[in-house]
Amino acid sequence: MTRIVSGSCLCSAVTFEVSGKIDAFFLCHCSRCRKDTGSAHASNLFAADATLTWLTGGNQVRTFRLPDTRHAKSFCSVCGSALPTVEAKGVTIPAGSLDDIVAIRPDAHIFGASRAAWDHDLDDVPVHDGLPGVPSSDWAVDNATAHGLAVAGVMRLG
Ligand SMILES: [Zn+2]
Ligand SMILES: [Zn+2]
Repeated sequence: MTRIVSGSCLCSAVTFEVSGKIDAFFLCHCSRCRKDTGSAHASNLFAADATLTWLTGGNQVRTFRLPDTRHAKSFCSVCGSALPTVEAKGVTIPAGSLDDIVAIRPDAHIFGASRAAWDHDLDDVPVHDGLPGVPSSDWAVDNATAHGLAVAGVMRLG
């Protein structure tokens, strides 16, 4: 199935399209992906024969390649958002960078042996539709402020 997906960075300067068949979707828990995403795992689509086109802002994309490894990460040099990387074996696309609905289920968790100590049974953790303890009418506040409030709330609880 050939399709085109499009995405952008957080500051919106960088926009891109990827055309081609998505071959795989992996959630990688390796220590490098945890470090470069700052999260439990990377969520990457892989497309061996796809074509990546920067629509805008291509000149502010940087790619970091970890020496002596195949680990690479592309990002917006202004806002730091993860962006696709062209590699010898195809294009790696961070799922979160896409603006389209990705109607693909992940194929697998990989490097599960490297999971963070807290990364288990996450389906059992409570899910809030927005900020815990904040009425939905207040969710529209600036995201950074809202996130700060949530963190502050957690800190107080702690
Ligand atoms: Zn940006
Ligand atoms: Zn990884």
